[in-house]
Amino acid sequence: MDLTVISTFRCNSRCQMCYIWKNPTEPKDEVSIETLSKLPGGFDNLNLSGGEPTLRKDLPELVDELYPKARIMEISSNGLHPERLVPIIKRYPDIKVRFSVEGDEATSNAIRGEKDGFQTKLAGIRMLREAGGTDLGFAMVIQDENAEQLVKVYEMARREGVELATSTLHNAWQFYKNDNYFYNRTRVAKEVEALITAMLRTNKIKNWFRAYLNLGLIEKILGHDRLIPCTAGRDFAFVDPWSDVWACNVRSDLPLGNLARQGWDEIMNSDQTRASLKKVDACTQNCWMVTTARTAMRSRLAPQLPKFSPLAWVVMNKLRVSLGKNVDFAAYINYREVKESPLVPRKSFLGQKVKNEIVVQRGLVTPAQHYPLAEFVNR
Ligand code: SF4
Repeated sequence: MDLTVISTFRCNSRCQMCYIWKNPTEPKDEVSIETLSKLPGGFDNLNLSGGEPTLRKDLPELVDELYPKARIMEISSNGLHPERLVPIIKRYPDIKVRFSVEGDEATSNAIRGEKDGFQTKLAGIRMLREAGGTDLGFAMVIQDENAEQLVKVYEMARREGVELATSTLHNAWQFYKNDNYFYNRTRVAKEVEALITAMLRTNKIKNWFRAYLNLGLIEKILGHDRLIPCTAGRDFAFVDPWSDVWACNVRSDLPLGNLARQGWDEIMNSDQTRASLKKVDACTQNCWMVTTARTAMRSRLAPQLPKFSPLAWVVMNKLRVSLGKNVDFAAYINYREVKESPLVPRKSFLGQKVKNEIVVQRGLVTPAQHYPLAEFVNR
């Protein structure tokens, strides 16, 4: 099982596709090391995210607690404080670190509301590499404003000798957003085709499966059904900053329990978890985020191995590209069926001043108070 620990909702970026920064938690309310010590070992991928995890003063201790509990420990960061990760990487060089980059320098800084973010991240990745980091990379949220830069960012990552993880606009309780839709779905989806081909041309098996993951992103962007059913609550779960455990980070009606008040086994075997898993089985959202997609692609019996359908797609299309042919996207993607967009008018604030809009979550105790945007549609 994969687990994401959202350690804080404080964030020093000002992204337009995620409003965590507008809803910061108070440090005293954030999930404690003592609470996280109740997690069992044996997770596959354990992601420490936020908000911005480097804003947690106890980040080194958090990592000490979580690192032994997973096959792969990951830190998702905006990369604005790479120096805080250096001692961690020196201690655990194989921790996977991903810094968010949303395009070239001007585009990334604009989308993320960061002054010198791009250069800081680039220098930061090099800093972590010098510190001995072995699994470093960038992460990009594909959207109308940066889709045409996707392959360029991928090439930049390759030049730096690091990975590129991709996701796309998504509505979710974690992001405090319900208007993350595309303006021109077909144009954005077509840009992802070029990335898929570029990934299949490499000699890295990891990239070939990432190509399949990006095929799923095209379906998501066009508003089509998922390639593979969701396994939220069974193959992955989320712990939020208030120690509440959720089947996924999208629907706020899929609670599993609370790790501060309950043990992990008690949560996993509870009536509440059983009720939420039933809702997952009937869920009609078409999520395809890294966590949801990666776990859906894996064999349940041997999580290091892929399911048959991604494997067959990868073998066939790697072969085609190796023979100098193009991927036959028309065989997989129905571009004649594109969902209307946007369903909720999107409030872009690119170029606007957005200071003074932060609401610290004081005195709010229930999940319903924490996540007032109850309804999300991902289509
Ligand atoms: S498909 Fe449904 S259950 Fe799965 S991650 Fe999305 S909202 Fe959650």
